[in-house]
Amino acid sequence: MFMHNKRLQYTVRVSEPNPALASLLLEQFGGPDGELAAAMRYFTQGLGEVDPGRKDLLLDIATEELSHLEVIGSIVAMLNKGVKAQLSEAAMEEAELYLAINAGGDSHTQSLLYGGGPALTNSSGVPWTAAYVDSRGDPTCDLRSNIAAESRAKIVYERLINITDDPGIKDALGFLMTREIAHQKSFEKALYSIEDNFPPGKLPGIARYANMYVNTSQGDGDMEGPWNSGPQWERVDDLNDVLPADEGDGVAAVKLSKADESLVAKLAARTLSDPDLDPDTGVDLGAGPGAGKITDEDKGGAEDIEDAAAQAKAR
Ligand code: MN
Ligand code: MN
Repeated sequence: MFMHNKRLQYTVRVSEPNPALASLLLEQFGGPDGELAAAMRYFTQGLGEVDPGRKDLLLDIATEELSHLEVIGSIVAMLNKGVKAQLSEAAMEEAELYLAINAGGDSHTQSLLYGGGPALTNSSGVPWTAAYVDSRGDPTCDLRSNIAAESRAKIVYERLINITDDPGIKDALGFLMTREIAHQKSFEKALYSIEDNFPPGKLPGIARYANMYVNTSQGDGDMEGPWNSGPQWERVDDLNDVLPADEGDGVAAVKLSKADESLVAKLAARTLSDPDLDPDTGVDLGAGPGAGKITDEDKGGAEDIEDAAAQAKAR
């Protein structure tokens, strides 16, 4: 069961209302790298997890992410508090209210549609979607994805910290950012606590392809590094050497029934293209003189086109 503690995980001290900043902060409320996405990612993974250690970890972090959702949502609510009241009570002249809700970013939508939020959208007003959660139900896949998700969240917080000079908000965002670093560390430890974590899953890779590096982009800028050269790699620079990678002829094939085979032949014959034809284009539109003419090789060029235009007008 969930229980709620009325105190936030981190104190929210906002200096003054700022609807434009509120709109930007929604990125971490209902955006792809935001707290709701993180909470749902770990909560659903935790429910499906069979390993008791990882289950505990995932549910701990999922619950903490909900607490972060509460912190970031509270900051948004504080930043919008003034304009929410002004709009609700119609306390200003129309022109002043108009200015107040159009503070920038997506702030007008936050005011008009969501009444000051916090809304489960990103900073552009795009509604949150479960598609942000990319779990596959395999711990070595999902932990890698979680590590990446935490690193993305860290970077987005860093960017948000760089655009506000409100000390209280900077402080709270710094806390949230730092917690994502701690989560990344936990997920890394959990990943490497699984001895057989690479490659993901049960099947090993096919040995002859597993260490092959294919230099498919060749020319100026070709580089070598530990990611493509050295004792762990068989580097392929001559692409013809590995084309196709198997001993086959590199052609796509399928065995068809006799009936399908004859239908395929009929289809191919009916839609055969004739490379010797140079058909007029535009005939589908029933267009008249000048249609399909993309060069002026016939005669005068410009006059020719004017002629055609005049004829078209006369019709
Ligand atoms: Mn978080
Ligand atoms: Mn996190």
